[in-house]
Amino acid sequence: MIVFVGAGPGAEDLITVRGQQYLKEADIIIYAGSLVNPGLLQVKKEGCEVYNSAYMTLEEVLEVMYAGEKEGKRIVRLHTGDPCLYGAIREQMDALEERQIPYEVCPGVSSFCGAAAALHAEYTLPDISQSVVITRMAGRTPVPDKESIRSFAAHQATMVIFLSTGMLGKLQEELMAGGYPADTPAAIVYKATWPEEKVLRCMVSELEKTAADAQVTKTALIVVGRILEGEYERSLLYHPEFTTEFRQGKQEEQADE
Ligand code: SAH
Repeated sequence: MIVFVGAGPGAEDLITVRGQQYLKEADIIIYAGSLVNPGLLQVKKEGCEVYNSAYMTLEEVLEVMYAGEKEGKRIVRLHTGDPCLYGAIREQMDALEERQIPYEVCPGVSSFCGAAAALHAEYTLPDISQSVVITRMAGRTPVPDKESIRSFAAHQATMVIFLSTGMLGKLQEELMAGGYPADTPAAIVYKATWPEEKVLRCMVSELEKTAADAQVTKTALIVVGRILEGEYERSLLYHPEFTTEFRQGKQEEQADE
């Protein structure tokens, strides 16, 4: 049995209870060493084989899985954050399906959630933005044309941008060309939830300079949007006048009392 486990954003205790249980039971762990905190591996049992996939090709990872599966071993493939985002798990799952090897996926806390926690931010505020665009700049991995940063920026919804810390000059240009005013609040969150976490707040037009000044070049998320400033409408859900399935709302006069 193979389990793809989300390791969480970095802190050793931000893996799920289920994910940690799989790690404890594993005979083989293949972890994405470039971003997974190696401290997570401390719970492994004696004799567990550990592979760092940063040094491996897809084919080599699959070879380890196939061989382990043949011997009836329990295999954990540990991916950073949640594996559903930029995890390259689809190609692994497809290969396993082709050989009819059973697998499961155990979700994890994505770094975009870790970044929100570090920022004390709510990505969805009434009247400001009710949507979050998770995207990246095109790098060596292409992004479909219809998903350009510029086109998403036109919505002025909250954006969380992965894998783009090395391209902040171009990123800020594209965000502003798309319609975000230069003074839109932005943040760079470096290694969210790790002990060395850094939170840098700035304006969209200052992203490149802010990262350069702090010498942040990788392992960061860029958050953009007016949710990062002070103004918003309070939520209806918890408003005294709002009726829900669980609670009868009061009339305005009553509510004011
Ligand atoms: N599946 C992962 C993302 C993998 S892509 C997830 O759900 O978080 C790798 C990119 O994620 C990095 O380049 C960086 O942009 C971002 N990232 C991963 N961990 C991070 C962290 N702790 N803090 C900030 N950004 C992080």
